[in-house]
Amino acid sequence: MAVKYRTYFDRQETIVQEVRTLVLERRLRSAISRAYREAPATRAIMDRSRVRPSAIRTIGDLEKLPVTRKTDLIELQKSLPPYGGFLAIKPEDVERVFISPGPIYEPLHSSGIEWFARAFWAAGFRKGDVVVNTFTYHLSPAGMLFHEALRHCGATVVVTGVGNTDIQVQAMRDLKVTGFVGTPSFLMTVIKRAEELGLNWRRDFAVKKAWFTGEMLAPSVRKTLEQDYGIDTRQAYGVTEPGGAIAYECERKNGMHLMDDYVVEIIDSRTGKQLPPGEVGEIVVTPVHNKAWGLIRFGTGDLSSISTEECPCGRTAHRLTGILGRTGDAVKVRGMFVVARQAEEAIAGHGTVVRFQLAVTRVGQRDELTLRAELKDEKADRERITQELNDRFQNICRVKIDRLEFVPAGTIPEKSPKILDERKWD
Ligand SMILES: [Zn+2]
Repeated sequence: MAVKYRTYFDRQETIVQEVRTLVLERRLRSAISRAYREAPATRAIMDRSRVRPSAIRTIGDLEKLPVTRKTDLIELQKSLPPYGGFLAIKPEDVERVFISPGPIYEPLHSSGIEWFARAFWAAGFRKGDVVVNTFTYHLSPAGMLFHEALRHCGATVVVTGVGNTDIQVQAMRDLKVTGFVGTPSFLMTVIKRAEELGLNWRRDFAVKKAWFTGEMLAPSVRKTLEQDYGIDTRQAYGVTEPGGAIAYECERKNGMHLMDDYVVEIIDSRTGKQLPPGEVGEIVVTPVHNKAWGLIRFGTGDLSSISTEECPCGRTAHRLTGILGRTGDAVKVRGMFVVARQAEEAIAGHGTVVRFQLAVTRVGQRDELTLRAELKDEKADRERITQELNDRFQNICRVKIDRLEFVPAGTIPEKSPKILDERKWD
């Protein structure tokens, strides 16, 4: 079969945002009415909330419905096998079924390859590339979907799957592999193994680009891969239960553009209410491309925020600002979630503090945030550092520090949590 490879930087990625919202909301309405009609579990959820499909017209209207979590899916699938009442098409029309830990059975109708292909294209994968796909081809969607999407970009795929480090190293060398698809930690394992075998990464290998998902890409690891090993890196965010990737990085690496296959909300997990751009909350997704899955408002448990700022790359979709942790990692201070990873970026990133700890206390009816910091240089200009740390913290975490205490080196225990919630609610 002759395949015509195309450019995956297209009209859909550069569409005016207002138009994108209209398209997404039209797809959302049709997904909701189909799910209500065909999927008994979705119908039951909506009936319990006394919400008719016609009441969901906009993305904002989704707030009327509860969030469904992984644990709910597992329970529902046990009581109503195999799909827990979420199948929204005829069983014989299911194209393929993936299984994620639980087990959760995920029916797929249309595979959503187009957006994966855009994600790989944005990462520079083209015809002429030889790519190892180190994701599993079993059970989970990753291996197979990425494989197909890489082919859409014209790349040659080496079907390695997970593990077998020595074979991966040899194949990457023998086949002059130019691209890696997998997790950052596995790529580091491969590089270390190559070095143990006496090989020189830059001399003996041709890998120039890597595409990651399934694991956070730590800034330090990114720096090592790019500067020490000459590999251009991109990451994408995906969740298997609702059917795949949700957002991907462009060459600017300033967050991950959302795909039009999903309606993505950032919410306060306790109330289910949507949060405005810039505020950190839980990522909740509703797939609108996969007709098989009547799943509405799937709570991922991952924390992020959305940036609506224009991206110089030309893609107009809003961006997830990165995965900042899990819902349990966040502490709410005066209505805003503070996440350890962002605090780290704000404080440790300033370069003057060796170790720090944030403490939230309650004074009267108000949350108070105290930063305790050990300075790298005890004689440094504390007034200036205080000012700069305050500004950085407010910019990145969007909450003001009430008190900054410089404590002597060794005061803060090495492995202690970055944020302590010392509020008493009695
Ligand atoms: Zn961009």
